[in-house]
Amino acid sequence: MSALSELYKEIALCQQCELAKNRTKVVPGEGAENAEIVFIGEAPGWHEDQQGRPFVGPAGLYLDQLLASIGLKREQVYIANVTKCRPLGNRDPLPAEILACRKWLENQIELIRPKMIVTLGRYSMAMFFPGKSIGKIHGTTQKRDNTIYYAMYHPAAALHQQSLRRVIEEDMLRIPSLLAQGKNMTETEQQPKQLGMFEV
Ligand code: URA
Repeated sequence: MSALSELYKEIALCQQCELAKNRTKVVPGEGAENAEIVFIGEAPGWHEDQQGRPFVGPAGLYLDQLLASIGLKREQVYIANVTKCRPLGNRDPLPAEILACRKWLENQIELIRPKMIVTLGRYSMAMFFPGKSIGKIHGTTQKRDNTIYYAMYHPAAALHQQSLRRVIEEDMLRIPSLLAQGKNMTETEQQPKQLGMFEV
């Protein structure tokens, strides 16, 4: 059994925060264990909670289309969330819940060692680009520890706000060239504590 599958078993037993009490299924994440790109969303919604899989509702269908626009299928990347359980009523995850869940994401990134981490929306952005605003930094990169960090709007935001659709689609289209340029990108000076993730 792979190290990631072992990790999923541990995540399934997690009771570190209140979210565990109301979950139908835990949603650890899925995709290629050797993925070059990891996409990180916010938290599972209703569909994800039912199926135990990330991004399988309307936002997920749109993410699949965005991936197809750069010639990728979801099996070729890795998709995870900041929290592995659904906040009831799809409320925003609380800081304590994000903190309790953080080690799982750290472990996933450590095992996959992607070349690029794409944050989808504010919550995952806050972990990797602390103090920044999505309106300002979407479509921009930082390079640290040999990894490219790239901030994008959340696909659900683009579904609710038509004007963001073009923005998110254009940001997605830049990913292949950013990945190809990665080797030549200069490292950003600011250094995080661990694995490119900052305290939030
Ligand atoms: N939104 C997220 O952030 N993650 C999911 O898995 C689904 C919707």
